[in-house]
Amino acid sequence: MSYPRNFINPLSLQICFLLLASFSNGQNPYQSYQTSIYCNASSPIEHPTSIEEVQAIVNLAISTNQTVKAIGSRHSISDVICTEGIPMNLENIKYTVLNSDGTVKVGAGAKVKDVLDFLQSHNLSLIHVPAFGGITVGGAIGTGAHGSSLLHPTSLSDQVVGLTIVDGQGNVQIINSANDLAGFQVHLGLLGIVVDVTLTTVPLFKMTIRNTLHPETILTDGTALIWAQSRDWFEMWWFPSSSSVVVSVGDYVDVSTPGEHYTNMLPNVNLLEVIAGRTAYELLQATRNTSGLLAMEEATRLSMYEVPGAKPPLYTGDGVKLENPATGFAHQLMSNRCESCPWDYGAVALNPEESSLAFNLYDLPRVVNTVRGILSQEGAENTLFTMIGMFIRFSRASPALMAISSGRPTVTFEWTTPMRTDPFNTPKAGIAGFQAIAQAMVTEHSGRPHWGKNGPYFFNPDILEEVHPNRNSFIGLMAKYDPNGVFHNKFAKRLLATSAEMNVHPSVTHCALQEYCICSKDDDCGNNQICKALNGYMACHDAPTNSKKDSNLTIL
Ligand SMILES: Cc1cc2nc3c(=O)[nH]c(=O)nc-3n(C[C@H](O)[C@H](O)[C@H](O)COP(=O)(O)OP(=O)(O)OC[C@H]3O[C@@H](n4cnc5c(N)ncnc54)[C@H](O)[C@@H]3O)c2cc1C
Repeated sequence: MSYPRNFINPLSLQICFLLLASFSNGQNPYQSYQTSIYCNASSPIEHPTSIEEVQAIVNLAISTNQTVKAIGSRHSISDVICTEGIPMNLENIKYTVLNSDGTVKVGAGAKVKDVLDFLQSHNLSLIHVPAFGGITVGGAIGTGAHGSSLLHPTSLSDQVVGLTIVDGQGNVQIINSANDLAGFQVHLGLLGIVVDVTLTTVPLFKMTIRNTLHPETILTDGTALIWAQSRDWFEMWWFPSSSSVVVSVGDYVDVSTPGEHYTNMLPNVNLLEVIAGRTAYELLQATRNTSGLLAMEEATRLSMYEVPGAKPPLYTGDGVKLENPATGFAHQLMSNRCESCPWDYGAVALNPEESSLAFNLYDLPRVVNTVRGILSQEGAENTLFTMIGMFIRFSRASPALMAISSGRPTVTFEWTTPMRTDPFNTPKAGIAGFQAIAQAMVTEHSGRPHWGKNGPYFFNPDILEEVHPNRNSFIGLMAKYDPNGVFHNKFAKRLLATSAEMNVHPSVTHCALQEYCICSKDDDCGNNQICKALNGYMACHDAPTNSKKDSNLTIL
């Protein structure tokens, strides 16, 4: 674009401001969406609107000897999202262009839900999608966000056929060779600024889902594995305290099949609901009220397959009544996006913490037995999975070098817990069980941590080297596309094994509470806790004098 002679080019103006900001040595913190990850950048977040502006920001970083990083919705809760340099958000680069070969080119800042709506308006869709539509396309392939199927590619990463990027020397590059695509399909924000992504599409289709309750023996006697291998959609929620599992089976059906149902996995909530939920949860936690927490877990379980009680039903048509079986556009049953989410309410928000580890598919029974072993020591009723049970999902082997399903059919185990009101000091009930389970999953089963879901400890150099067989090939691509380390952050240095440093939230004093460390002394744990072994894994237990309540009850 050219400008008249006396006209001040808006791009130059923006760069001047950025230059001033970058020399101001200012503190420019930004956080993950649920606040647990804290990054401190040299300048405020930039919002480029074109590939030229992206190039200008990368060139500025190069010329001022800074680093630079693109971020999406910041829905990853690891320091993979951090930079000490210039952060940029591509939310203004969100075009969608249908190509004549049936692919779609999408600006990296477009939200997955918006892309799916656009495709639906053209009678098209993606073959499979992750559960949350509020993430960006650039961010989704940043971590390899996935859904659950052994028959179809579950992640957007595995549906990518090309990308446009700005590399670490400020050059625009088109990526479409199989070798390099395998790196970019799960790029961790370390190979370039992704400007757009080209994805394969399929004709619009529907899905029929049915959820049913089963005894947990199906996890270990081979039944679940057989079922998983024959269905278009297959996922499970395991509730160890009641020895049961809710199984969700889905079959793709023709678009003409009647039904307009959708998933309510992430329902909208209003301020009153958030305050009530947060207050009730905090009370149950602070008083270590096991029967109340069990009731929460039971409400979650029922909402998945039976008439709902305290929780919104999982699949609905009218938003009120549970539909089971449910039939609707497949992407609307696999994925949704809350517009007023529990974490959107500032000081009173209800923020989740997540853990997710991925294993060889055929290790499913062994991993289940490991979890059972820990729960039998700790008491299943003391380690409750109140939000989504122990969520079990499946993925085909992925060609992406750094996918958690790279090179092997995969099963993932995930759990989500709401944060305490003072998450840096007051521990969650059952935290010892969660900590021991996560450690055992990595140590005994080489579990690969989801790049966007686990605490920073799980991305230390030793674990990264141990569980990612393609790490060296990926590092080779980092050197090719970013020879001077312009996209490096602390996370990258741990991947490269050149440093063990992490981005640590300034409020952290008890490092084991948010998984910055495994406890080695009592003070690493929360208030009134002790660090001791559980099934051989160091974990934070309530001190015996404090077994029924913690002393720091803070409701709001
Ligand atoms: C409610 C909820 C539900 C979720 N459900 C699932 C699920 O079903 N399955 C699953 O696997 N995960 C799930 N996640 C995790 C989430 O999908 C991933 O962490 C995803 O990467 C977040 O995307 P984002 O847009 O927020 O990207 P961010 O978290 O902001 O960034 C992720 C990575 O991508 C990089 N990046 C982002 N944009 C660009 C770009 N344009 N160029 C270069 N690098 C870039 C960042 O630097 C970072 O390394 C869920 C998260 C939430 C909050």
